[in-house]
Amino acid sequence: MPYYPELAMVIAGQRTGIDHRTTFTVRNPATGEALGQLPLADTADLDRALEAAARGFAMWRHSSAAQRAEVLQGAAALMLERKEELAWVATQEQGKTLAEARVEVMMNVELFRFYAGEVHRLYGRQLVRPAGMRSSVVHEPVGPVAAFAPWNFPLGNPGRKLGAPIAAGCSVILKAAEETPASALGVLQCLYDAGLPGDVAQAVFGDPAQVSDYLLASPVIRKLSFTGSTAIGKHLMKLAANDLKRTTMELGGHGPVLVFGDVDLEAVLDKVVPHKFRNAGQVCVAPTRFIVEDAIYDRFVAGFAQRAAAIRVGPGWHDGVQMGPMANPRRPEAMEKLVGDAVARGARLVTGGARIGNQGCFFAPTVLADTPPDAEIMQEEPFGPVALINRYADEAAMIAEANRLPYGLAAYAWTQDYRRHRRLAAELETGMLAINTTTIGAADAPFGGVKWSGHGHEDGPEGLQACLVTKTIHEG
Ligand code: NAD
Repeated sequence: MPYYPELAMVIAGQRTGIDHRTTFTVRNPATGEALGQLPLADTADLDRALEAAARGFAMWRHSSAAQRAEVLQGAAALMLERKEELAWVATQEQGKTLAEARVEVMMNVELFRFYAGEVHRLYGRQLVRPAGMRSSVVHEPVGPVAAFAPWNFPLGNPGRKLGAPIAAGCSVILKAAEETPASALGVLQCLYDAGLPGDVAQAVFGDPAQVSDYLLASPVIRKLSFTGSTAIGKHLMKLAANDLKRTTMELGGHGPVLVFGDVDLEAVLDKVVPHKFRNAGQVCVAPTRFIVEDAIYDRFVAGFAQRAAAIRVGPGWHDGVQMGPMANPRRPEAMEKLVGDAVARGARLVTGGARIGNQGCFFAPTVLADTPPDAEIMQEEPFGPVALINRYADEAAMIAEANRLPYGLAAYAWTQDYRRHRRLAAELETGMLAINTTTIGAADAPFGGVKWSGHGHEDGPEGLQACLVTKTIHEG
């Protein structure tokens, strides 16, 4: 097995190892093999991190645009140089294929490059006033950020959580997922090696609830940035509310995909099936509910299932593998439960539906057809390789189904009718909409949801704005 680094926290620029600390065993989800021991923070560690974040902010808030851009450009160049190493680490600890891990590296490279440009465009404005009077509006960094990143994009999530605050002039304490720490540490190291001062960004790990309780109770922290489930997001927002900290919440989704009868069916299937099973379905913007018009329904289900059954599943580092294991043992367990419930309620299991092999967290690409709306999986984000395909009579019924759930992160539609594009854009309750494409995000495009999928954005100018506060100054 290739390189996997020794794990540590990084507090005030110093590697903080195991010593007396409790540890967490990081495992390869394809094999169950232990990869390393991760030290977990105690409250003294968190206090040190908070002190460093306060120092880091006091200094970095005065950094120039050129200085921030140099760090971000430098880190992007280093990530590109270390692409293979970073991808290998991510594949070992998270399970995804090497090809997908490389895409994650490139997401970070593009985002850091974008922010390196964007920092030069943090303008304020001057208001029209009579002679002798001056009123101006300036944007300042919000302050030290506590950022919590999950395990599904072990490189990309930390990249987003670090990139925006650093570009804005904030400091940040990152708690990435304990299950995928080395990827996060690899991204952070690129920033340090590009010249970021140690106090400006730090990485801690620990018991998630303890760390978030402690950091969010501290007046040092001025903003919470969280990516994860809606349930935990609601809990963390309540903690942030005690001190009126600002929040960016990237929460769950239940992606509707509306497929109309006017499409080139085979071409659409060739796009949507690989998109569904990317990262074994563990993607907040994953297509989940395929809402298919009656006329093409049977052919859609058959074509989808045939392609799903042909997907090559295996360890992410094997040549030709198209889908790796799920990221941790909780996921295949959840899949068994959700698929079992759906079938018991009358859903038709067209393909998959079970674990593969007797080691690792593999679960077969699965297609459920005619799943009744009261099945748990029709309400709850499956976060796994399960496609739900159901039949609908017309556009109105399809839009109603898309908007039925309290989530609103990503929605997709496939249709050749261009007037329908505009109706869908107007009617779908979603933060992001992709029509006739699987592209749902980009470095320059705001990424975020509505309703229970959260609020605020990452990426794009909005991602940077989210780390700023506005000050109005009147001078007589
Ligand atoms: P979980 O909901 O307990 O954890 C999800 C993430 O939140 C993890 O990274 C975890 O470390 C973190 N977390 C949990 N409790 C926390 C707390 N009190 N304070 C700070 N961080 C906390 O469970 P899980 O099994 O890891 O994931 C389950 C569900 O989470 C998935 O089914 C999916 O719906 C959702 N999830 C969403 C995303 C996303 O990108 N939006 C990513 C990962 C998981």
